Amino acid sequence: ALVRRTLFNTGAVSMEGCPEADRGEAVFIGRSNVGKSSLVNMVTNRKSLAYTSKRPGKTQQFNYFAVNDKPGKEKEVKYGDYVPGDKDPDSFYMVDVPGFGFAKVPEKQRQAWSDFLAEYIKNRSTLRVIFHLIDGRHGPIDEDNNIMKQIGETKPDNVQYVIVLTKADKNVKGPNVTNMGKVSKDVLDKVIDTARKNNVGTAPIILTSSETKLGRDEMWKYMRHAAEA
Ligand code: GDP
Repeated sequence: ALVRRTLFNTGAVSMEGCPEADRGEAVFIGRSNVGKSSLVNMVTNRKSLAYTSKRPGKTQQFNYFAVNDKPGKEKEVKYGDYVPGDKDPDSFYMVDVPGFGFAKVPEKQRQAWSDFLAEYIKNRSTLRVIFHLIDGRHGPIDEDNNIMKQIGETKPDNVQYVIVLTKADKNVKGPNVTNMGKVSKDVLDKVIDTARKNNVGTAPIILTSSETKLGRDEMWKYMRHAAEA
């Protein structure tokens, strides 16, 4: 399997705070409670990797998980222990981008986060894949629309944008859907419509369930883009 070790590296709130751009990256974006931690744990076969990002005060930063890092060192290192520059050829970062959908976040902070994300998408040279997680039971909310708009306007051509519908477990078929899962036709139509309106209408759509492991292989198909970058 591709995942040998996944280590929590560091968190960043600005371009200056990011780890060195020395390997490909797959970022995971989604409103709180969309199922992001569960999905990150599911695709890496870990029980609690992404909980790290839920520590108080860490909810607004980009959290970096180094996949296939440091050959020979199987143990997980704690935040702060990480030594950059010691990596496998196929090492890459999974980047957990938390922090939207919190009603209590002040407007100023919301804007700062949004600006950072826009700058990141435009200027992070090692960014390869954007996974945008949308709750498969409810479909896109306003913030999802804003994110898509931002991505449609700023995404470089060499970055693959992928829509991920979480919490899916029943069969449905539709244009752009690359695997099978359970979301309602209404939700799917709304996702496709929102994507088209925001100029990301060609984005592949993956249906996932952290409970049944639906979509795991599909996720890895795109994560490999990051590893091979
Ligand atoms: P996060 O805030 O985006 O990191 O979301 P979590 O991963 O913590 O999940 C939020 C809630 O959704 C939890 O109660 C999970 O048990 C539930 N959940 C997450 N993934 C799935 C899924 O694939 N299927 C179902 N039915 N529930 C899920």
